[in-house]
Amino acid sequence: MAHVFCIANQKGGVGKTTSAVNLAAALAVLKRRVLLIDLDPQGNGTMGCGIEKRNLRSSVYELLLETASFDEVVCHAEACGFDVLPANRELAGAEVELATVERRTLRLKMALAPVLDRYDYVLIDCPPSLSFLTLNALCAADGVIIPMQCEYYALEGLTDMVASIKRVHKDMNRKLRIVALLRVMFDQRITLQQQVSAQLYKHFGEKVFATVIPRNVRLAEAPSYGLPGVIYDKSSKGSKAYVACANELIERIEAKE
Ligand code: ATP
Ligand code: MG
Repeated sequence: MAHVFCIANQKGGVGKTTSAVNLAAALAVLKRRVLLIDLDPQGNGTMGCGIEKRNLRSSVYELLLETASFDEVVCHAEACGFDVLPANRELAGAEVELATVERRTLRLKMALAPVLDRYDYVLIDCPPSLSFLTLNALCAADGVIIPMQCEYYALEGLTDMVASIKRVHKDMNRKLRIVALLRVMFDQRITLQQQVSAQLYKHFGEKVFATVIPRNVRLAEAPSYGLPGVIYDKSSKGSKAYVACANELIERIEAKE
């Protein structure tokens, strides 16, 4: 049965999509069966796996509204080594349409239930908000991986995220927990980043991944080639860091099985 994790942080541009796509690719390199779900109408995760978001047959939007089946929506990202549930701007409409349907926060969970035995890991790339879409991800997941930049306002944003996770845990999904905090675009030479890092350890202890993802231009270039950095340039520092991070995730999760 798959472990389902969302990659979430309501702050924008903190490296959610880069982390989701590259962790998916790294887990696939490490021989795990992976499904990446793009739950952001921006469709960045979809494009980052080489899938053209403008001419999708169907997308995760139809899956949530139950007008297409999982097998109709899923794509295999050949060069990346994993499956993708793609998204495009159509998904923004789901926000409104889901508002009036029954069990509106459980649509993703219900859609995934029949296919969980096909994968080892399901990673959900969330939009930068605490919307119905993110709520669907939090209800479908066993845990959350929070990517963050070690900046001055990061801890404040984190407090909101943790509060939302606690609320969902209490009212909607008793399985949900924080799996890890991942420090991204990290620069060891910057004192502020070391200070924020120390604060993170103080509050979250072992939840903080020992691996940090450095700022690395190869990771930023890779999406324009429709590839995860891990595949585009596997010898780059950023790529190696995501593989190390995937190994750390596997150790944490599979040691308990
Ligand atoms: P959004 O909230 O809009 O969905 P996001 O949290 O998914 O954003 P990304 O799209 O992953 O964030 O990253 C934001 C920008 O930072 C992108 O241009 C990406 O290429 C760049 N970026 C992410 N991680 C790194 C890194 N480690 N080194 C260099 N650039 C990075
Ligand atoms: Mg994103």
